[in-house]
Parts: sequence; structure tokens; C-alpha cells
Amino acid sequence: MTAIAIETDLRASLDELARACRILEMEGHGDMTLGHLSCRDPQQRGFWLKRNRIGLGEVLGADVVILATNFHAVMRWVPAEIARNDSRFAGLEKIQTTPILGAHLWFDRPVMNENHLAFLKGPLQWLFKKDAEGKAVHGVISAARAWVDIPREEALKQFEQQVRQTLAAARDAKLLRGVIVIEKRATFAPLPGVDRLRPPQAPPPGGIENLFLAGDYTLSGWPATMEGAVRSGYLAADGVMALGTATGTFLVSDLPRQWPARLIGFGK
Ligand SMILES: Cc1cc2nc3c(=O)[nH]c(=O)nc-3n(C[C@H](O)[C@H](O)[C@H](O)COP(=O)(O)OP(=O)(O)OC[C@H]3O[C@@H](n4cnc5c(N)ncnc54)[C@H](O)[C@@H]3O)c2cc1C
Repeated sequence: MTAIAIETDLRASLDELARACRILEMEGHGDMTLGHLSCRDPQQRGFWLKRNRIGLGEVLGADVVILATNFHAVMRWVPAEIARNDSRFAGLEKIQTTPILGAHLWFDRPVMNENHLAFLKGPLQWLFKKDAEGKAVHGVISAARAWVDIPREEALKQFEQQVRQTLAAARDAKLLRGVIVIEKRATFAPLPGVDRLRPPQAPPPGGIENLFLAGDYTLSGWPATMEGAVRSGYLAADGVMALGTATGTFLVSDLPRQWPARLIGFGK
């Protein structure tokens, strides 16, 4: 059986980090903003941060590791030679991504009363009120592949026009500023067959026996959503508990399906 262990240089860095945290604790800064010291990973895989209300010493003593990152970063944490025998990592490279576009518009006067709106017709799909007065609004387009190469000024004009057409108060308002942000690898693409590439949280037979995975990309039964991410964490916790004698599950039941989902055929 293969297991993940902490490398010597990492252990030395974490010892130092734990010592620094303890010094802050002695000075009354434990678990406060200043108590959250971090250190850069010696192998450039990211950084380490002491979690609130838990010491690094307790983490180092753990028998099990739950790796909760995204699927781009996960292989930076698992040595290739031991990942090779763990089928959970075989499909990761084939998972495709999909972009999400955010359009931030600031007007010179309040333009929006509602907290959010769903558009029946594009290009923007959703609009959110971003300040108390309703002067700042945020439009969103999911699966925004078609917008990646469109010049930002051109896209902004279309979004501004859509907002003016939809919100009466925006018609004569002056647009002070507009910013478009496209997150190119926002989520994994829910293409047919993607579940065959998504790894389960618990190690398969012959896999890395003390490594559990969490994250929306793991096999949660949900697409890339906050709900999916949370459920993946519950499933990872269930897997860890199953190593011992504990019974039961952290997983909570899905909410009952509401009428819009039922209307399009998603059961009762
Ligand atoms: C623009 C946008 C809009 C979205 N809108 C919605 C929405 O409206 N509703 C919804 O349900 N979902 C939405 N999602 C999807 C949702 O945000 C994700 O599904 C969810 O946050 C995934 O959670 P996660 O814990 O799996 O991954 P993440 O939240 O991505 O967490 C992964 C963590 O790993 C860390 N990390 C990355 N690399 C490393 C490394 N090398 N070392 C250490 N740590 C690392 C990251 O910093 C991050 O904190 C949206 C996503 C995006 C990008």
C-alpha cells in the first residue's frame, strides 16, 4: 500500500511556522488575524496556513490527509510516482474547463432596486445589485466561451445597452466605469462522460491509502457548484470515518425539488 508522507524540507518549514504561531499565541495573538501566519511551500506548490483553532502540530500528527484544492493544482501535491498507481488521477488531465464572464458597471445614480434579476434573453444571463444604492451592478454569463476573444469595449457596449433596455432608471444614467473579468478556467465543463474522469474522494484499492480528495471536481453527483464542493467535503469526511469504526454519514439530503425543476422533468 502507498501512503502520502510529509517531506523533510516541508516538515522543517512547518515546524518553523508552528513555532512562529505559538510565539504569537503567547503574545495574545492566537487565532486572530495576526495568528494566521503562512509559509510558502518549499517545492513551490502553494502555501501553508495555520487554520483557526487548530495547531499545526495536530495536523502533522494526522494519519489521513484530505486534499481540498482544484483539479489544476491537485497533481502539484501528489508525487507522480505514487499517483501513477492511483486511478483517481488518471482522468484529471482530460477534464475540460469552461469560462465565466463578469461585467461590473458603475452608474452615476441608482439604477437597480431588486437584489438580482435573471434575463430571459442575453447576452447577460444574471444581474446582481452590488451596493446599497443600486448604482453598481454585476452581470454574469456562464459558459462564456464565445466572449473570450471579443474586445472588451465591444462587449461592454452590448452589456450596457442590455442593462439600459431592462432597467428604466438606467436609461438616462451615465456609465462612470465598466470592467469585464473573464475567469477562463472558472469551472470544469459538464460534458457528457465527465463523471468517468472525476475521481471519488476515497482511495481505490491499491491507491494512496491515507489520501482523500475534496473539491467540486470530485465525484459528488453535482456539477461545479458550491453545493457540489460542500458535498464532496462531506463525502471525504465519510470516507475518513469509514476507516475506523464510526457509522453514519455527514451528507445531508438534497432539498426537495421546486416547481421549476419539476416542470422541466427533474422528478418530484
Ligand atoms: C466566476 C465564478 C462564478 C461562479 N458562480 C457560482 C454560482 O453562482 N453558484 C455556484 O454554486 N457556484 C458558482 N461557481 C462555482 C463555485 O465557486 C465552485 O464550484 C466552488 O467554489 C468550488 O469549490 P472548491 O472548494 O472545490 O474549489 P475552490 O473554491 O476553487 O477552492 C480551491 C482552493 O484551492 C486553493 N489552491 C489552488 N491551488 C493551490 C495550490 N497549489 N496550493 C494550495 N492551495 C491551492 C485555491 O486558492 C482555493 O482556495 C462559480 C465559480 C466562478 C469561478
